[in-house]
Amino acid sequence: MYKVVIGLEVHCEVKTNSKNFSSALNSYSEYPNENVDTVDLGLPGILPVANKEAFRKSLMMALALNCKTPDVVMFDRKNYYYPDLPKGYQITQETKPVGVNGYVMINVNGTDKKVYINNIHLEEDTASLDHFGTYSLIDYNRAGVPLLETVTEPCLYSVDEALTFLEALKGIFLYTGVSEARTDRGQMRCDVNVSLMEEGAKELGTKVEMKNINSFNNVRLAIEYEIKRQTEILESGGKITQETRRFDDEDLKTYPMRSKVDAVDYKYYIEPNIPPIKITDDFIEEIKSEIPMLQFERVEKYIGEYNLSRYDSDILVKDKKVSDYFEETIKLGANPKSSSNFITSIILGYLNKYEIGIDDFYLTPKMLVDLINMVDKGKISSKQSKEVFFKCVEDKKEPEEVVKILGLTQITDDKTIRDIVVRLLDERPDLIIDHRKGKNTFDYFVGQVMKETRGKANPTLTRDIINEEMDKR
Ligand code: ADP
Ligand code: MG
Repeated sequence: MYKVVIGLEVHCEVKTNSKNFSSALNSYSEYPNENVDTVDLGLPGILPVANKEAFRKSLMMALALNCKTPDVVMFDRKNYYYPDLPKGYQITQETKPVGVNGYVMINVNGTDKKVYINNIHLEEDTASLDHFGTYSLIDYNRAGVPLLETVTEPCLYSVDEALTFLEALKGIFLYTGVSEARTDRGQMRCDVNVSLMEEGAKELGTKVEMKNINSFNNVRLAIEYEIKRQTEILESGGKITQETRRFDDEDLKTYPMRSKVDAVDYKYYIEPNIPPIKITDDFIEEIKSEIPMLQFERVEKYIGEYNLSRYDSDILVKDKKVSDYFEETIKLGANPKSSSNFITSIILGYLNKYEIGIDDFYLTPKMLVDLINMVDKGKISSKQSKEVFFKCVEDKKEPEEVVKILGLTQITDDKTIRDIVVRLLDERPDLIIDHRKGKNTFDYFVGQVMKETRGKANPTLTRDIINEEMDKR
């Protein structure tokens, strides 16, 4: 049996108004070559200008990944030629990345794990190529879009760990607002490095790199295929070649692209046209203060402080807005368990069904709290609360009002119920005798009270009063 070792290099586009080094728009466009500036085209004489929002958000991500940040933001040139790179070099960070030596906490099937981050650096995206039969077209919309590359240590030991890490990383991008991280728009892409080592071996095995995989499911399939392929080679006494392979998403196999023996020499040097930008402690503190509590910590809090299950906590933190909504209900005095139940079992289903975002949702946290509290105080039953919920959101009315309209308020007044009970017992002395003889006539009286009050009498109180009144006779 071999142990699998995985290291990931994740590229994610940073959400900014303009590109990393030019004033062209950084926005999704259906039309090719719409958001393009001379800098993005690499025309002679261009001067790149660093985008403050891009390096600010990059530093925020670095801090969220518990990285050490540098004293200056500076860039390097990575020289290579490819048609999607008109300048003949990419501006990236080699000397001083925005973050080094960080970590991300993840929970894989119930067990916590620290995933080590080697570095996170800011660079620019390339143009994109569309290949047709005998020709290719270049779209420069993507050229120069700020791109953050997160590089993990080779410390992921299973497909599940790799996928959980990717989900966690995506969550951090979304929670901090650094990126929209939409894989369907190619905003988040991944290079996957996989090697095998014998159980107990001291040195890592030879790795294979798979470039530019653009969906999490393909990452899973590519790793699974590589484990199988490499295992077969090793078991038949062969050796793994260090190489870059391509994952084909049609036959779900990987194919060699280039071997790493003649590794490219990028001849890095410091980008001379962008002076280093000093990063003050105040700037770092300001950025830190804007990082919200992240998913992992929220789940720990929900389990530890609110006694929720991991399953429910995971559902609540999936979308930050839902998690914020939930926390707001608690601030407003809701019982965490009741609020969590209501959100996970009713509200999310409703929002999903009608494709409504929680911020466009009629029911505010305050209204949910009112609704939950009516149940917790026994004013209405939990079954009735669902009916009230649907009427609230459909008629756009507040819970208290709907309860009145539907006439649902429970009768919790002792005297009202007692009067009914006394009258019922007076009417049927025979059933009291039956009751003494051991026959169950108790439920008959409960049923009668419910019938007379159209189900509104508080059940617990009704039972208590019937017991008391029967004992008196
Ligand atoms: P390279 O010099 O080939 O770019 P690096 O050491 O910079 O390699 O690592 C690139 C990525 O490959 C990192 O994400 C790292 O975790 C991963 N990696 C390195 N060695 C291995 C290995 N033996 N098995 C799996 N992944 C590895
Ligand atoms: Mg590398």
